[in-house]
Amino acid sequence: MPTYEYRCSDCENDFELQAPVAEYEDGIDETCPACDSPNTTRRLGSVMISMGDRSSDAAPQGGCCTPGSGCC
Ligand SMILES: [Zn+2]
Repeated sequence: MPTYEYRCSDCENDFELQAPVAEYEDGIDETCPACDSPNTTRRLGSVMISMGDRSSDAAPQGGCCTPGSGCC
């Protein structure tokens, strides 16, 4: 079962919700467990961001080797 990370906009509480994907797409209860606020935003994992940075860094280096060396 996937875990969804949320942050409350009112009290900045971080919390996680676990729900089947079907139930999540149907609309799960996303209220803050600390203050019952509905002003919560889904947090995207920092893993995705760092992976994107790494692949854009690797693209220029990982492609061709030195121009003129004949290995490409
Ligand atoms: Zn809250």
